[in-house]
Amino acid sequence: MQGFVDCHCHISAGDFDRDIDEVIENSKKAGLLALLAVAEHAGEFEKIIELSQFPGFIFPCLGVHPVQKVSPERQRGASLQDLDAALPIIQKYKDQLVAIGEVGLDFTPRYVSSDADKEGQRQVLIRQAQLAKELDLPNVHSRSAGRPTIHLLKEQVEKALLHAFDGKPSVAMEGVKAGYFFSIPPSIIRSEQKKQKLVKQLPLENICLETDSPVLGPEKQVRNEPTNISISAEYVSKIKGVSLQMVMEVTTQNALRLFPKLKSALRP
Ligand SMILES: [Zn+2]
Repeated sequence: MQGFVDCHCHISAGDFDRDIDEVIENSKKAGLLALLAVAEHAGEFEKIIELSQFPGFIFPCLGVHPVQKVSPERQRGASLQDLDAALPIIQKYKDQLVAIGEVGLDFTPRYVSSDADKEGQRQVLIRQAQLAKELDLPNVHSRSAGRPTIHLLKEQVEKALLHAFDGKPSVAMEGVKAGYFFSIPPSIIRSEQKKQKLVKQLPLENICLETDSPVLGPEKQVRNEPTNISISAEYVSKIKGVSLQMVMEVTTQNALRLFPKLKSALRP
């Protein structure tokens, strides 16, 4: 299939409110076939569902992110209460969803101050992994805490996309063995060596493309947009020594394998 799939972006972010129509138009012009709109908290679910009314282009993924924003200045780890607020909405729209996400673990000290906080995040992730299984959907995963994440996922799910993975390449290879996919954002061009090495190691058959818009763009502090998917693609093409066309074809096939619901929606 000709075109890219942005497997992970936050198109519901306030950053896109003023020019969303133009952003979507530009994305189509840049050769994107589909955007997977992932959520961070229950408060934005309805907005994502509304955006997915752009027919056959924006596909909704709902989930509770491991880090929840209390105010612009304060963030904390996700708790079961956050999940309680999310579950009824996920159930309501379950037939429209292409994945459960963005979910994960993030044990950065400023988000977790105790073992109980970590356990809270683990429970939120386990329940969402189980929910994904029940609904026969893949999980779209957050990027922190590589090792505990892969280990926990391996106990729980068969289908997962690990976004902007920042664990060790050896841990990533465990994910490859489990059949997971890894998505590469445009920020890869300014990433530390560890992440660039990861792209080298991952088989192309396990790579997807993402932008994580509005963040993880090629330039720090500048709003990232789905059109920048080509930067991820060019980077993978260069590292792997294969044509851009090949990267497009394989990563799009990978996305369709991982998100089977996309297939029927994209077929003319
Ligand atoms: Zn994200």
